[in-house]
Order: sequence, then C-alpha cells, then structure tokens
Amino acid sequence: MADAQKVLITGGSSGIGFAIAEKFVRKQCDVVITGRDREKLDEAVSALGSRCAGIRFDLADLGGIPAFVQHVKEKLGRIDVLVNNAGINQKKSIFETTNEDFERIVRVNTTAVFALSRDVAAIMKEQEKKGSIIQISSMTAAYGIPYVISYSTSKSAVEGMTRAMAVELSPLGIRVNCIAPGFIKTPMSSKALDNDPQRKSKVMSRTPMGRLGCPSDIADAAYFLASGEAGYITGEILRVDGGNSIGF
Ligand code: NAD
Repeated sequence: MADAQKVLITGGSSGIGFAIAEKFVRKQCDVVITGRDREKLDEAVSALGSRCAGIRFDLADLGGIPAFVQHVKEKLGRIDVLVNNAGINQKKSIFETTNEDFERIVRVNTTAVFALSRDVAAIMKEQEKKGSIIQISSMTAAYGIPYVISYSTSKSAVEGMTRAMAVELSPLGIRVNCIAPGFIKTPMSSKALDNDPQRKSKVMSRTPMGRLGCPSDIADAAYFLASGEAGYITGEILRVDGGNSIGF
C-alpha cells in the first residue's frame, strides 16, 4: 500500500478486532479502535502503540453514530477502511429467546453495522481516495446451528447487506466485502465451546485443517481485502474457516 491507510475498526480491544488492529498497525496504517470499556480500550491502545487511538463508543447507541463517525474523521483526517468487527452472541433456545434478546443482538450485529457503513460511506464517497468496507459474518449465516437464533439471523443479514451495499457503492468507488470466520479462538468462541465438549468435537471433526482458527488468520484476510490487491473484489463473502464449510 502506497501511503498510510486510515482505518476504523469496531470492537478492537479483544479477539479478532485486536488482531486486525495489530495487523494494520504493523503495516504502518493509522488506526482507530472502539469499544465500550475504557480500561480495556486503554490497555489495547497501549499494546498497539502510537499509530493507534481508542474512542469509547457503544454501538447500541444508534443515535450517536453520526457524531461518532465525525469524531473518527476528525481524528484520522479521512477514513479509507472500515472494519465492522464488533459483535455479540447469546446461547439460548428459541423458546428462551425473548423479543428483547433478539432485538439487542440484531441492533449491535446488524443495525449498527448498517448505520456505521452508511455514514462512513458518505464520507468515503467525497474523498479523492474512496475506500473499502469489511463486514464480519459467521458460519451461522450458512449453517443451521442450534441455540444461536438471534446471532444467526443477525449474521445472515450482514451477508445480504454486503451484497446490497456492494452494488450501490461500486459506482462510487467503494468496495464492500465480508469475512465469514470459521471457529476462531477468542473470548467469544471460548464461551460457546469450552463448556460444550460435544459442540467442540463436532467443530473439530469437520475442520479438515484440524485446528481452530487464530485471530491473525482473520486479520490477514481483512488486510488483503482492504488492499489494492483486492481491487476488483466486491460483494464477496470470504470464508476463512480451515475448510470447515467444505468438511465432510
Ligand atoms: P470478542 O467478544 O472477543 O470481541 C468482540 C468485540 O466487540 C469486543 O471488543 C467487544 O467489546 C465489542 N463489542 C461488543 N458489543 C459492542 C458494542 N455494543 N459497542 C462496541 N463494541 C462492542 O469476539 P470475537 O470472537 O473477537 O468476535 C469478533 C467478530 O467476529 C464478531 O462480529 C463475531 O460475531 C465474529 N465471529 C467470531 C467467531 C469466532 O469463532 N470467534 C466466528 C465467527 C464470527
């Protein structure tokens, strides 16, 4: 990449988001990460170094998104890359899942992704150098996995949103792609798998590469999709899953 990319990553203080921030920082990009917890955010920023800044923001606050985006623009000068990484999950059966549970998950995983992408795209289209948006979905968008009904719904919507945004934003020079991670070792997946040996052994039995993914596997894919080397790729759902989705 020629000059320093200006990158906004949501949920950058842990797991996959932190690894994505690490990758972009290592590649000499200027990065803003966001999270809800001031202390965790500060810890991540100090580990990531001077190319990274942290802005505390709760994505459930949809009304606050336009001001938040302006704040990021002021901080970075422009926004070349948006990675909508932040997400939440909840393991409950259909019958235990309340409307409030469902809406809470969709609000953060889908509606906030839409609102942030829309407002960042409005900035990108005015820039000389346009930009690239990267969404993060999940294998639950493709598989019927039990007890994650709200999460599956929210991530399936993100894949549809990726295609719809890609066609509308292509004429403006903005690419939109999505990474569908397989099972990646992070605090979120540990919560879902560590106390469920049956689910864990099912995951491993259908992963030809024989291991869970590392957050850096997703970071490498995000960096590629943001780069000029992916310049003719848009609307793509890139599975980064060690073959899980084609495993027998
Ligand atoms: P994680 O729990 O480690 O990180 C999620 C991040 O999102 C955290 O930093 C959290 O603070 C942030 N976040 C959550 N709600 C937020 C809100 N309302 N406002 C601001 N920030 C918020 O999880 P992870 O595994 O690193 O997940 C990252 C993304 O990857 C998520 O979108 C997740 O759905 C997706 N994903 C993860 C896996 C996996 O196996 N770990 C698989 C498929 C998809």
